Amino acid sequence: LLRPHTFPQNGSLLPAKNSLAQLKETGSAFEVEHDCLGKCQGLFAPHIYTQPDAPCIQCLECYAMFSTQTFVMHSHRSPDKRTCHWGFDSAKWHCYIHLSSKHAESPDSKKMKSILKEMKEKFSRK
Ligand SMILES: [Zn+2]
Ligand SMILES: [Zn+2]
Repeated sequence: LLRPHTFPQNGSLLPAKNSLAQLKETGSAFEVEHDCLGKCQGLFAPHIYTQPDAPCIQCLECYAMFSTQTFVMHSHRSPDKRTCHWGFDSAKWHCYIHLSSKHAESPDSKKMKSILKEMKEKFSRK
């Protein structure tokens, strides 16, 4: 029996979704979020972040890949009017991206936070 809506096992129809989902399973990627100009959650893959504009964060809603700076400008929700975004500057993405609240209770949250801190400092000049 053939079911028309069943995707092939190798997921060839959704390559981007699968590739990062696999990274997550191996434990190298974890979820991050921002609440700038709306809210967005993404899957961050640290080892893909090899240059400042490398697309290393995948939106969990549309599965598009973003660099750290373009991710903070990406959202599927309208901005929260109560939040003051005076002075928003995507170049300061490291101030806006934080670990997903999903990981707050995780025993690995400390490790993830330090990886996130490291990647924020990776290409920043002091
Ligand atoms: Zn904000
Ligand atoms: Zn999206």
